[in-house]
Amino acid sequence: AHRVDHEYDYLFKIVLIGDSGVGKSNILSRFTRNEFCLESKSTIGVEFATRTLQASSFCCFTLNDVVVGFELHEGHAPFDAVVLFVLYGSGVEGKTVKAQIWDTAGQERYRAITSAYYRGAVGALLVYDITKRQTFDNVQRWLRELRDHADSNIVIMMAGNKSDLNHLRAVSDQDGQALAEREGLSFLETSALEATNVEKAFQTILTEIYHIIS
Ligand code: GDP
Ligand code: MG
Repeated sequence: AHRVDHEYDYLFKIVLIGDSGVGKSNILSRFTRNEFCLESKSTIGVEFATRTLQASSFCCFTLNDVVVGFELHEGHAPFDAVVLFVLYGSGVEGKTVKAQIWDTAGQERYRAITSAYYRGAVGALLVYDITKRQTFDNVQRWLRELRDHADSNIVIMMAGNKSDLNHLRAVSDQDGQALAEREGLSFLETSALEATNVEKAFQTILTEIYHIIS
């Protein structure tokens, strides 16, 4: 009954940022394909692939208290994933939100992310690794980068990833909370490996954006 078209009512561009190796690409693959990769493969020269999933069979969660299903298209360069949400519910029946999630191809290693990456982004998932203090210290640098290149109203969610490696923890949850409060960011600890809080992180960003624009 609910046909997902390539048309949409809202287009949200969301960028993944943070130091190299913090788990950005795995957070994205966990969210879009429910996949995790232990061996970090190069994301340069992405293969083009399109996969359309039945909204109801793939995933379902709520956005702004409305049940949402989505269709996924993978590997459309220059972004890594397009997630098409269809809003089911009174008032918003049939409304579609297209979330374009951009992942870097490793440019962050060379501090070479261009302003084109940030252009038009309404949301950012800023990731650090809870086992690597330096990646947390660099959050300030990424915030500066966002201030310089992105829209000032961008919705930012900070994610302390690899929460499964609690025994190797170098950043406490409280330190993450405190920084988030100081900078006015949403915050969650995530694990792409164990699929903890990954959906919630994107859900929170999308819900915040949706509240702002609607
Ligand atoms: P990126 O450079 O930020 O895109 O990071 P990747 O997604 O390529 O991940 C870097 C490495 O961290 C890979 O070896 C992943 O398997 C690993 N990794 C990513 N997320 C997690 C996680 O939540 N837990 C653990 N234990 N390892 C992770
Ligand atoms: Mg990556």
